[in-house]
Amino acid sequence: MEELKVRKITNGTVIDHIDAGKALVVFKILNVPKGTSVMIAINVPSKKKGKKDILKIEGIELKKEDVDKISLISPDVTINIIRNGRVVEKLKPQIPNEIEGILKCTNPNCITNKEQIRGRFKIENTSPLRIRCHYCEKYLNEVLFE
Ligand SMILES: [Zn+2]
Repeated sequence: MEELKVRKITNGTVIDHIDAGKALVVFKILNVPKGTSVMIAINVPSKKKGKKDILKIEGIELKKEDVDKISLISPDVTINIIRNGRVVEKLKPQIPNEIEGILKCTNPNCITNKEQIRGRFKIENTSPLRIRCHYCEKYLNEVLFE
């Protein structure tokens, strides 16, 4: 099989080693401005993981808080900030202690699901991931994105 080459970007961010099949979820939570060039490679062969996804975002350098959000979807990603075709910074996401929005509370009776209230969550444990809703104080039983 012929290997597909994903075009290099000159300036922007490359998110590598995304768990296979998760690139679109990562893309969705990043709220990349409309009109941004984005390249998504799904199920690319990987030495480390067997298969992986890659996301390249042209012209945008992710901030630490965006990088940390990604840890909730795929904790092993590596993020390279590219300027003039060279990697100038490598970032590793860290699971944040608190998170606003992004996630949905899994308790159907939670006020955030009954009214239009943005969720707030505390991450109490990272492995296994235990996330508690600020409003109803219940633990999320799965990670759902808004
Ligand atoms: Zn809740």
